[in-house]
Amino acid sequence: MMDTKTKVRHFERKASCWRYFVTRENGEGDNKELRDYCTLLCPDQTPCSYNCAHTGSTTTSKNRHIRENHKEISLPAKENREQTGIEKEFAELVVKMIISGALPYQFAENFFFKKLIEKYTSQTPLTYYEVKRVEDVLYNEKIKAMREIISSLITVSMTTDGWKCVPLKKSFISLTLHYLNSMWNHQSLDLGIYLIEGSHSASNILNKLEQIFSLFELEKSKISSITADNASNMKKLVLAFSTY
Ligand SMILES: [Zn+2]
Repeated sequence: MMDTKTKVRHFERKASCWRYFVTRENGEGDNKELRDYCTLLCPDQTPCSYNCAHTGSTTTSKNRHIRENHKEISLPAKENREQTGIEKEFAELVVKMIISGALPYQFAENFFFKKLIEKYTSQTPLTYYEVKRVEDVLYNEKIKAMREIISSLITVSMTTDGWKCVPLKKSFISLTLHYLNSMWNHQSLDLGIYLIEGSHSASNILNKLEQIFSLFELEKSKISSITADNASNMKKLVLAFSTY
């Protein structure tokens, strides 16, 4: 029930869900806090008692509450995200944290992680699909930057290694380029680790290398040396390269 002593504030909000909430200041002194109260009626026509900490522009919990408890109200599916947007830098930091920590994309929707964001930042938590989208953008930006570096090089050295992961029954190859920059300092460019289709034979590895070179727009004529172990597939691979 509404406490008549509390100050009632109506804010003009963009997202539709705010139409059904009022923000009130509760408590005295240090205990003073803003809370958002649902103004809708429950199905049995009693006033809804739902309230949550005032969240600025964040509307995730309010939207969820309305969808789950006031099914007669139809909220536009994407309105919240389109109107509030995601701050690019914030989204990129979350995605970089997820990638560097080898966390699943779903971590973005972790209950406590979302709570942390909602309580201590003015940002909106990301969804699983937004993490994927931002990751795609970051990936493409990274590839583009690496292509630019490679295109500026006259010659590069390459180190590579192939191995089989026995439990997964899959073969992989890693590839690193080495070059000198304009200050004659040694630089390395990690092109990544790739799955080899089929066995890690010289011809399968060669096919994969062709795909990687094409991804990075690396001309084979730029490769001045290859360093690898002396496994028979690697020897064949280097021999195949020498014919280019
Ligand atoms: Zn309610």
